[in-house]
Amino acid sequence: MTDIFDHASELEELHRQRALESHKSRESSPSDDCVSCGAIIPQARKKALPECNLCIGCATIKELRRKP
Ligand SMILES: [Zn+2]
Repeated sequence: MTDIFDHASELEELHRQRALESHKSRESSPSDDCVSCGAIIPQARKKALPECNLCIGCATIKELRRKP
């Protein structure tokens, strides 16, 4: 069973690296991507929060960390 979990974390790492690479190579529209993880921020979120540069997941984590 451990093999499956090892493989899963490997894939996750690969996906993260690819996301970061594509984030770097797409400098034409950096504001569409989360500055923290490189995920694409939904247009609805960009409309509601034009200054926002984090995806919903990272923004939630940031909010949680800010609270005591
Ligand atoms: Zn993010």
